Amino acid sequence: MMNEKVRELLNAQINKEFYSAYLYLEFSNYFDDKGLEGFANWYMVQAQEERDHAMLFYTYLQNENQKVTLEAIDKPDKTFSCHLDVLKAGLEHEEYVTSLINDIYAAAYDVKDFRTMQFLDWFVKEQGEEETNANDLITKMELFGSDPKSLYMLNQELATRVYTAPSLVI
Ligand code: MG
Repeated sequence: MMNEKVRELLNAQINKEFYSAYLYLEFSNYFDDKGLEGFANWYMVQAQEERDHAMLFYTYLQNENQKVTLEAIDKPDKTFSCHLDVLKAGLEHEEYVTSLINDIYAAAYDVKDFRTMQFLDWFVKEQGEEETNANDLITKMELFGSDPKSLYMLNQELATRVYTAPSLVI
């Protein structure tokens, strides 16, 4: 039987991951409006990955015969004064998600829920990659974003990102 606190945190994470998808869809929407379709693509792929994360938490709880409760997804509430603001909001959000994953891991560790810890291992690694990607994007934007020609090339680079299904199978 799964510990109730662990179950609640895993259930809440379904909502947090769907919110992440919604937030990145808003980022994609922002860049579409600005005519930067490469950036819009990059965040669209990110949104798809977040939806996958939500479904992994959902499927894990279902497989463990645990109760799932779906809650309302918050409206993305961020406003941006420039392109770089969006990228920085992305990094800030990923750092927050990392803290959430760590909290679930700590709760599972406390009750020796090794199965949940093993499930979360993939997310621990994934969060490292998400933070690296968000940081790299900020660095590139700071280096090249103020020059229109370089921004155009960065936009072209980001247009090449392709969605792939998560490597975690549960
Ligand atoms: Mg995620």
